[in-house]
Amino acid sequence: MKIIGVLGGMSWESTQVYYQLMNQEVRRRLGGAHSAEILLYSVDFDRIEKLQHAGEWALLTREMIAGARRLQRGGADFLVIATNTMHLMADEVAEASGLEVLHIADVTAQEIKKAGLGRVGLLGTRFTMEQPFMRQRLESHGLEVLVPDADDRELVHRVIYEELVQGVIREESRQAYRQVIERLVRRGAEGVILGCTEIGLLIGDKDASVPVFDTTRIHATAAVERALAG
Ligand code: GLU
Repeated sequence: MKIIGVLGGMSWESTQVYYQLMNQEVRRRLGGAHSAEILLYSVDFDRIEKLQHAGEWALLTREMIAGARRLQRGGADFLVIATNTMHLMADEVAEASGLEVLHIADVTAQEIKKAGLGRVGLLGTRFTMEQPFMRQRLESHGLEVLVPDADDRELVHRVIYEELVQGVIREESRQAYRQVIERLVRRGAEGVILGCTEIGLLIGDKDASVPVFDTTRIHATAAVERALAG
């Protein structure tokens, strides 16, 4: 089994879900007392979040590279960046650490295509919805990607940073997200990507009239698949 290097803590609310899912998936596949071999570097998210909102992406890239190098020195065989937003610098992290990054958009796109869908809505932070790094990577797999309109993007972003990363789950926000999803469906979305690793804490399959693709679940499962591949 390969050692999964997890660059996490962004936020720890979702990293703990990754940890649980990766271990459950290894148990499901290997049985008995088997569990995942994981190295985790978990950041103080307050610093990261402030730098994101200040647009300090070059500094954040250096921080992510430093974290990846710690995992590389510790013996990780490949990397899982346990946040969609910080895939903005996935290529630089892979290059500087010398480790393969299992890209969250690639494994998500594969699941969507397996389900036979072509046009999907994308929910995530403003950075993920508005900057090209996630959309373009999904589109490179032949998908069409719809993002919510400006007001809905603002709402989705605010709930992530003011509630979900702080462990706050509110029913009003769940209802608001449901409406955002339905507006995407009315525009033609055949499925919806939960493109922020905390959204799965709020929204599940039953909250949408179309299939839901939870990046945390898909990424964690793919990491185990990769760790167990020969
Ligand atoms: N976990 C979130 C994501 O998947 C947002 C937190 C972050 O900015 O890293 O994008």
